[in-house]
Amino acid sequence: MTLRLTNTLTRKTEIFQSLLPKKVSIYCCGVTVYDHCHLGHARSYIAWDVLRRYLIWLGYEVTFVQNFTDIDDKILDRAAKENCSMSEISERNIKAFHEDMNVLGILPPDRMPRATKCLDGIRALIEELVTCGAAYSIDGDVYFSVTKHANYGKLSGRQLEQQQLNADGRVTDAEKEKKQSLFDFALWKGAKQGEPSFPSPWGEGRPGWHIECSAMVREELGETIDIHLGGADLIFPHHENEIAQSEVATGKDLARYWLHNGMVNVSGQKMSKSLGNFTTIKELLKQGISPMTLRLFVLQAHYRKPIDFTDEALKAAAKGWEGLNAALSLGVLHSTELGITKQSSLNEIAIHTTKEIHSLELSQLQKNFVEAMNDDLNTSGALAVLFELARPLRSLANRFKREGTKKINLSKTADLRSRWQLLVQLAHVLGLKSEKSQTFSQIGESFVMEEKIKAAIASRKKAKSTGDYTKADKIRDELKAIGVELIDKPGGKTDWIRI
Ligand SMILES: [Zn+2]
Repeated sequence: MTLRLTNTLTRKTEIFQSLLPKKVSIYCCGVTVYDHCHLGHARSYIAWDVLRRYLIWLGYEVTFVQNFTDIDDKILDRAAKENCSMSEISERNIKAFHEDMNVLGILPPDRMPRATKCLDGIRALIEELVTCGAAYSIDGDVYFSVTKHANYGKLSGRQLEQQQLNADGRVTDAEKEKKQSLFDFALWKGAKQGEPSFPSPWGEGRPGWHIECSAMVREELGETIDIHLGGADLIFPHHENEIAQSEVATGKDLARYWLHNGMVNVSGQKMSKSLGNFTTIKELLKQGISPMTLRLFVLQAHYRKPIDFTDEALKAAAKGWEGLNAALSLGVLHSTELGITKQSSLNEIAIHTTKEIHSLELSQLQKNFVEAMNDDLNTSGALAVLFELARPLRSLANRFKREGTKKINLSKTADLRSRWQLLVQLAHVLGLKSEKSQTFSQIGESFVMEEKIKAAIASRKKAKSTGDYTKADKIRDELKAIGVELIDKPGGKTDWIRI
């Protein structure tokens, strides 16, 4: 039984072999810190958290590095809009990022470099590329010459001729004029008036987006790493360009395995700000969705496939989680009855329980779990094992609730204890842990509530458009009376918060 992963680079599912025995180096492209994290980030970072947890469970020593892009046009735009500095925007969103990841139970990366703090490594890498003739400077900008990388396009499978001009959406007309080839991309951008800038051999300026990851990988993990992670939207041009820069500079492969997660759709449509179906993690949790429900929802799909975020799917995940949570909570609530002495340290059970299995059934279930996870992280198969383990525990939890603990003959306590411990341990691999949760009906209510609020906002908008401000105000007051405050945003959109 060996772990197999689908490598975007080779387009094959391959047996995973680490460069060094029992050690794995992982780099994951992080967020550009101009706003709060959304569902797409939740999906991506939950998936990679599970990969990391599983490798640790298999006995690997994992080093996980994830960056923060804290120099970017979007951050500058936001800073200009809010009349504050780029670093104020970055700091605020980095704090929010940590809050979100913590709530979702995502293990913090071992190191989180930031572009503004890695400028020496970035400048050194650009200099090497200029020296070897793979990059050229012009009027304070430095560009990478894509024709200098013989295998450019090997990750995305795109040939230069097929590529779209301006594909990364971050290239201005002025930049296009300076470039030797239209496909060349900026490694360093000369300073513009009023923008923060940093010194360099090519003048004041700031690094391009792609170069920061290449520099950080080398600085934090070395020239060749085991696994490089990111969303499928990063394959081109970001990861293609990372490969070109790094491999021209070092002459070595940047990463042995490239893994990409699928995107998130909302009710069948691509999630985007312009479509108005853009949900941040904070908004979602505010609506009463529990973090573990969200995790379960994400893990029901394979990480490479797109997932469709609908109210129905989320309700189904909430129901599934309710059952699993009842089983996971059993040992916490009834530790004495189950003969669990170390229940104070749930994490200890999850991590250190010996893999000694008492029954054939449990042994088979653990085997099924491992087989599913080894199959390119088939988390839905792994969840099926968790549900199977949970079933008798859940019935017992229900009986405890109905009949009280005294009446129940616990002749099979040892079996149930092993079962519960195995469940906790395997759930921990998927990052799932017992939660003092709302019940399904409460979550159901929050959905109904949300639908009602949405409908009320729509009627208020209609009333306003016909000049019926009395009715519009009445709707606002009615909502306020039930603890919902409306916030009118520029452009006619109305948001709401609980007060
Ligand atoms: Zn990156």
